[in-house]
Amino acid sequence: SEEVLIRSEKLSAIGQLAAGVAHEIRNPLTALKGFTQLLSARYPEHPHYFTIMSNEIDRITLIVNEFMTLAKPHFTQFHDVPLVPILSSVLSILETQAILLNVELKVCLDHTAPTVFGNADQLKQVFLNIIKNAIEAMPHGGEVQLSVATNDEGNVLIRIKDGGSGIPEELIKKIGEPFVTTKEKGTGLGIMISTRIIEAHKGTLKLSSVVNVGTVVEIMLPIQEAS
Ligand code: ADP
Ligand code: MG
Repeated sequence: SEEVLIRSEKLSAIGQLAAGVAHEIRNPLTALKGFTQLLSARYPEHPHYFTIMSNEIDRITLIVNEFMTLAKPHFTQFHDVPLVPILSSVLSILETQAILLNVELKVCLDHTAPTVFGNADQLKQVFLNIIKNAIEAMPHGGEVQLSVATNDEGNVLIRIKDGGSGIPEELIKKIGEPFVTTKEKGTGLGIMISTRIIEAHKGTLKLSSVVNVGTVVEIMLPIQEAS
């Protein structure tokens, strides 16, 4: 409908503006971080101030980096990319964090190795966001199940299931809006950005959750037939 169209145009204009601003903020932040470190060596009697400054600079950097990806779909190139290597690289990035938190990452692949038409970096970012959320939902450890299966309609379904805290019903409607987070160090941008990336790949991202039982994220992407 018209309203939806206008809304998504607005979002993409805002996204481009945000990414432009984000890009401009990055260089001064690098300088600030560097000189903060320099000063902290110079004033060892006030380590606490510099730790706070440094942490806050890191936080701005994190938010800015996440925002950068908002406008990128306009510039990113799509190719035929095999999905399994993308998932493997994400799993190896998250392995250490998982071990530290006593979380086991279990993978189940069907026998096909699907290729999708897309951008590998963006897809990596999506799986990184979603699997990280799953790990973070289980502070006392547990299991994250990742499964990849293809169906007869020509789609691949990637399912990420955790046995974590779950999301209360009143919150789940808001998840995916910018800055909605329940984490002290969260940005509340992960799901919004992931959803946008998956939609740019003509796929869908669905989230379902039961408090104290866990959360399932299902990502569906069209398979690119070998040519
Ligand atoms: P962030 O992780 O920075 O908070 P996200 O957009 O990735 O931002 O997630 C938003 C919020 O959704 C989280 O703060 C959390 O409350 C909830 N959430 C997302 N994934 C899960 C999950 N697997 N289990 C429980 N809560 C989740
Ligand atoms: Mg997140």
